[in-house]
Amino acid sequence: MNKLFVLVVEDDKSVRNLIVTTLRTHGYRYAEAPTGEAAIVQASSHNPDVILLDLGLPDMEGAEVIRRVRGWSNMPIIVISARSEDADKIAALDAGADDYLTKPFSVDELMARLRATQRRLAYTVSSAPADSSFVNGALRVDYAANTATLGGEELHLTPIEYKLLCLLCQNVGKVLTHTYITQKIWGKSMESDIASLRVYMATLRRKLEGAGDAQVIQTHIGVGYRMVKL
Ligand code: CA
Repeated sequence: MNKLFVLVVEDDKSVRNLIVTTLRTHGYRYAEAPTGEAAIVQASSHNPDVILLDLGLPDMEGAEVIRRVRGWSNMPIIVISARSEDADKIAALDAGADDYLTKPFSVDELMARLRATQRRLAYTVSSAPADSSFVNGALRVDYAANTATLGGEELHLTPIEYKLLCLLCQNVGKVLTHTYITQKIWGKSMESDIASLRVYMATLRRKLEGAGDAQVIQTHIGVGYRMVKL
């Protein structure tokens, strides 16, 4: 598989150099942008496979960059944030970012995220949008029949658990925030909905644990959930 073309958006020159040196070492192609404006221009002219986007940019909020890119493209966006920018990170995910890295991050972590993005891209390209079923490891969801099976055994899910599962499947590989999920499931996002979400997610996960695989649903504390592409 061809290595990805990565657009690196970061105003801090030393961090940017570290990232591009790592990418070069691993054979990735890349372009660099030090500002949000430059990022939007480069995203449209180079059409990268993935954007690595620092949230602390001098000229605009990271979420604004995402909203503008999302106006015409679904390219994967991985945001990079400092721990003090947790609220910005969640805003970025709500604006349509796919994943995040928290500074300071290791080179191994960065490479792992890019590989995960590559797997997700390969998966998205190979599965036709009209697919009426979804398969991930031992899990199979048949959208037409409204059923889910694990290793061939039917899962007995409540309607809300099933809706949650479908939402995670349709966004496999992507971190979904509490707000995003509760909006999709209940059409609103109050504190109480987020508390209910935790309960539903816990029971859904218990039902899925039979797989014996790595945990298929990851919890991102204070952020949300992700279904991992197995
Ligand atoms: Ca910065």
